[in-house]
Amino acid sequence: MNPLPPARVFSYRIDQHDRIISCNDDWFAFARENDGSHLTQATVCSRPIWSFISDPETRHLYQLILSRVRSGQTIAVRMRCDSPTARRAIKLHMTPLPDGGVEFNSCIKYEEERTYVALLDSTRERSFDVVSICSWCKKVQVPGEGWFEVEEALMRLGLTSETNLPQLANVVCYDCYRDIIHHMNTVEGHQRG
Ligand SMILES: [Zn+2]
Repeated sequence: MNPLPPARVFSYRIDQHDRIISCNDDWFAFARENDGSHLTQATVCSRPIWSFISDPETRHLYQLILSRVRSGQTIAVRMRCDSPTARRAIKLHMTPLPDGGVEFNSCIKYEEERTYVALLDSTRERSFDVVSICSWCKKVQVPGEGWFEVEEALMRLGLTSETNLPQLANVVCYDCYRDIIHHMNTVEGHQRG
């Protein structure tokens, strides 16, 4: 593992209608570094965050978390934010703002280079086949076997070639769903206690 550069905080805010109202410079810089050069002040601000979260399960989890944050609690979750050439874990803090807004702050807690994984490269062509990837832990589902780190899943799925790549369907795996719900309940329990 390489030593981390000085910690950057990627930050954005939404209003009470879930519209993005501001992003900081580090957020835009991180987007540019990760295949998101189309994400600019003009294309991001005033759009609902839901236009960036396509799958229903991930939306549902964020809706649960946001309603908890808007009741006055800061919620912190750990998730993966991988690229084709890096494994990364980030910590995301969601903090209530006045008038129903929420601030999202994330920073990289762990980063490790890896051999390029074509399956995670959004610029690559795809076949009509579909495999499921968890949007929180970035594990890939192998039907009948479970969820695995992408490299192991590719071997188990027999997808060792960089051609004929399946499409990725973003979902939330059972373990992540359970852990996040449990974590939110624990936060509430502490506040009650
Ligand atoms: Zn997961």
